[in-house]
Amino acid sequence: MSTSSPQDTSAFAELSWSEDGQPFSTRFDDVYFSRESGLAETRHVFLQHNQLDSRWAALPPGGSFCIGETGFGTGLNFLCAWQWWDRLAPADARLSYVSCEKYPLSREDLQRALALWPELAPWADQLLAQYTDLTPGWQHFSLGEGRVTLTLLIGDVLDTLPQLDARVDAWFLDGFAPARNPDMWQPALYDQLARLCAPDATLATFTSVGAVRRGLQEAGFAMHKVKGFGRKREMLRGEFQGTRPGGWEAPWYQRPASPGGERSALVIGAGLAGCATARSLATRGWQVTVLERHGHAAAEASGNAQGILYCKLSPHQTLLSRYVQASYCYALRALHQLLPQGDSTWRACGVLQLSTDEKERGRQLAFAGQGYPATFLQAVDSDQASRIAGVQVDRPGLFFPTAGWVNPPSLCHALLQHPNITLLTHSEALTLERRGERWHALADDQQSLASAAVAVICSANDSRRFAQTAGMPLKPIRGQVSQLAATAASSALRTVLCAEGYISPARGGEHHVGASFRFDRLDSEPSVEENRSNLELLDKLSAELAAGLQPGQQDPAALPARAALRCTTPDYLPLIGPVADAQAFEQDYAVLGKDASKQPDAPTRWYPGLYMNAGHGSRGMVSCPLSGELIAAWLDNEPLPLPRDVAEAVHPARFMLRRLIRGR
Ligand code: SAM
Repeated sequence: MSTSSPQDTSAFAELSWSEDGQPFSTRFDDVYFSRESGLAETRHVFLQHNQLDSRWAALPPGGSFCIGETGFGTGLNFLCAWQWWDRLAPADARLSYVSCEKYPLSREDLQRALALWPELAPWADQLLAQYTDLTPGWQHFSLGEGRVTLTLLIGDVLDTLPQLDARVDAWFLDGFAPARNPDMWQPALYDQLARLCAPDATLATFTSVGAVRRGLQEAGFAMHKVKGFGRKREMLRGEFQGTRPGGWEAPWYQRPASPGGERSALVIGAGLAGCATARSLATRGWQVTVLERHGHAAAEASGNAQGILYCKLSPHQTLLSRYVQASYCYALRALHQLLPQGDSTWRACGVLQLSTDEKERGRQLAFAGQGYPATFLQAVDSDQASRIAGVQVDRPGLFFPTAGWVNPPSLCHALLQHPNITLLTHSEALTLERRGERWHALADDQQSLASAAVAVICSANDSRRFAQTAGMPLKPIRGQVSQLAATAASSALRTVLCAEGYISPARGGEHHVGASFRFDRLDSEPSVEENRSNLELLDKLSAELAAGLQPGQQDPAALPARAALRCTTPDYLPLIGPVADAQAFEQDYAVLGKDASKQPDAPTRWYPGLYMNAGHGSRGMVSCPLSGELIAAWLDNEPLPLPRDVAEAVHPARFMLRRLIRGR
């Protein structure tokens, strides 16, 4: 046996490899799959004993199915399921696959393991094209041109499953033999499986251990012993017959009833949030009309030349930090899929986050010490930082080697390239009106510009102009970015430098330096004083770069610049999700104003089929791609691609709730 070198973090799978190339877990002292034939075992145990062939063949056109798994491992079960799905399910049906994994394989090990199955190569190659060394948290993948989503919950199943919002149709209960992994095979796990079951959910597992069978029975599954695979005499299969555990759940975070009927959507606004929403819906078969008041997409805050893939994370794993990390990882996957790298589009050139002071350095080191893979981030001193950057920098920091810069208009353009998306430019929606089963977007003359069953407001600060979202606490912050023509010296800059501000490597002969934060001005006329403050930011980032400016570039009055309004919220998290009627909310839950511990159970009165996606601040490039997936998951009853607490932290209803409880 050969042993693959463990990664720089203990959270990766630790493997040894047999002479015939099979992976073995040295941590659990167990095999990942049958030595005889992993493929045949998966098909027998998990696919056949969940009757996936007949269930998938019987799905209606446009149907959907959700599989939940404990133990993603090498992804063999996932790939076998996806292969069958492509063969058996209607062409427009959608598969959601959610899998828990505490010790993900490194990319290198995954590639080595999957090379065992040439038959699965068409599917494995798509997974590998997006699979990087995974960090803890939720990792979402859009595969098979959007027909299949994979959400990996990286962490202990007993921590992650309670945060899952999903309706699972079939469980693959994998996860090493109960004797080798007793911590996982617990009643707490079986209760979670039961909580997440869709009606008629089934379950299959390779083991036939009595304690597992009894535990699952107690959780509400009717269990049967059946013939196991190969030399294994028996395995278990079951159907959920229990009732989902009751208990109060906040109605304002429950899923609104699906709109049903026609799958058509209006998206108001063609910035990053709107384009990402349109894309996620279109790949799921929705007919999407995007309304944009300007003559093209990405005309306002998403119109900057270079946006930074900036991932500021907290060692305290706050909700904001977990949201940003999940979004950042997905944004990189989406970019690699959608947009070829190039001088005008985007570059994964790396981002150096230099520390601004000692306290910040402490936070950075605390974060870097949490066992992240070097492919995700590295703590660097100022010498290392200078070597990476190609210019002299005087501060230590964190290096994100796979981050970089993006031209947001190119990303918006790429997102809109889908046959199900129609972009209507010069179309300014001022009012949204529900007539019968449709939302109509009305222009100033009350003429309907377009209509659809569902509407998603993605209009940044102008989302407040619609009566239904007028009370949302969105606030504009002006930001100005200055352009600097590249010089021979500045062309040496290889990565983005960030600290109090940022400078990007040259794109088309121009660097971009930014950005100001101003609450007191709401116009988009560039100002000399913000150019001046941007030059000061540059000096702090790299005195060498600042000193190398041409004389003309040192004059803030002479620098070309672009100013636009970001849109943010009081807690700096965006607003992504369904929209409730604010007045009805106040009436229905008035009791919370007197006693916040009350548990009112009146169902929330939603505007039928109305959603919003706004407030991404200056991190739209990072935050928007996953926000589109979140909107689509709410709408299509798919598993949410974020943990429940994070999905609630970005839910539009949170501010209605806070207003009631805090009286403001
Ligand atoms: N289904 C996998 C496949 O297709 O390759 C094989 C799974 S392997 C037998 C079991 C997996 O469960 C391992 O990858 C292991 O790291 C994971 N695992 C074990 N205990 C876990 C826990 N408590 N939480 C999450 N994952 C766990």
